[in-house]
Order: sequence, then C-alpha cells, then structure tokens
Amino acid sequence: MSMHDDIEKVLVSEEQLKAKVAELGAQISKDYEGRNLVLVSILKGSVVFMADLMRAVSIPCSIDFMVVSSYGGSNTTSSGLVKIIKDLDGDLTGKDVLIVEDILDTGITLSNLVPMLKMRNPKSVKICTILDKPSRRKADIQPDYEGFQVPDEFVVGYGLDYDEKYRNLPYVGVLKPAVYEK
Ligand code: 5GP
Ligand code: MG
Ligand code: MG
Repeated sequence: MSMHDDIEKVLVSEEQLKAKVAELGAQISKDYEGRNLVLVSILKGSVVFMADLMRAVSIPCSIDFMVVSSYGGSNTTSSGLVKIIKDLDGDLTGKDVLIVEDILDTGITLSNLVPMLKMRNPKSVKICTILDKPSRRKADIQPDYEGFQVPDEFVVGYGLDYDEKYRNLPYVGVLKPAVYEK
C-alpha cells in the first residue's frame, strides 16, 4: 500500500520545493555573510526542510535542534507557554539564530519561543518557515523568510505529519477525507 494513494491533492510539488529551498538558501547566505549563523530546527516537523535548507546555505553555519510543545496542547490562546522537551545543545550568546520551521499556523508556538531564545543573549533571532498559513494567525508574528503560503487546510508531507505518518512524502499535500475516518 502506497502513502500516495491517501493524498487528495498536491499543494506544493517536489520541484517547487526544490526551487524554493535553493532560493531561500541563496538569500540567507547573502544576508548572513560574515555573521555567526546557527540554524535552529524545531523537531520533528522541520527535519526535512532543515536537511535541504542547510545544504542550500553556502556560508559557514552551525545547526542545532529543539523539541517543544505547547502547554495543555491548547491552540486557542496566544498567551500560552512553550514547554521545552529537548533543549538546544549550544550556547546562543552572540549568535545569529535562524529558526527553521515547517509551518507557521496560529503562530502561538513561535511567538512564545522567540522571547525565550532572546533571553539567551543572541545577536539576532529570525524565522524561516517553508509553509505559512496566514489565515489562521492568532499571534502577532510573521516569518522573515517563507516558502509558500497555503490555504486553511490541514497539510501533510515534507516533514509534516498526520498521526506521525506522511512525514516522508516528498511533496506537500492534503489527505483524502476517508483517511481521517479510519
Ligand atoms: P502554531 O503554534 O503556529 O499554531 O503551530 C505550529 C505547529 O503546528 C507546526 O509547527 C506544525 O507542527 C503544526 N501544524 C500547524 N498546521 C499544520 C498543518 O496543516 N499540518 C500539520 N501536519 N501540522 C500543522
Ligand atoms: Mg513545527
Ligand atoms: Mg504534528
């Protein structure tokens, strides 16, 4: 059985992702030239984008990983805190932090995480997300670098999951309604 059979439609193709990642990598390489870039991947969703983006960046940089979860799992309030499940390994002092995300949805996660990272005395903190769902935004936060805007639909693939599955789809798509009824 193929995962592809569960996809109703493809929103962003493999080719589109590849071209956009190359574009973002070139822009980031230019903007961060001569600086102290650290790419911070928020696991697990950004793992595929991170792996592609870091290879599209042509300047020296380091990488680090973080696992976070919103308290209570509630997405209805923008005043929630973010719980750090796995913290970064490295010190951020003096670093130019670029958060690498899969999707900016309500923005609640990052609007809480950015101030927490800023308390660690980095030189700067910016956001790079491959997908953006602006129609769902609850927190006052925008990406500094973004790949594609998607409509208000639940998307999977390119790192994004439904019930921990479909992360390994090489494109971004929408599931058939029947999948949710299983
Ligand atoms: P936010 O705090 O911006 O609402 O939440 C962002 C996180 O929720 C994303 O990093 C992602 O893990 C998850 N998320 C938001 N929208 C979607 C979606 O359409 N599909 C999937 N698979 N995850 C999503
Ligand atoms: Mg995420
Ligand atoms: Mg998920």
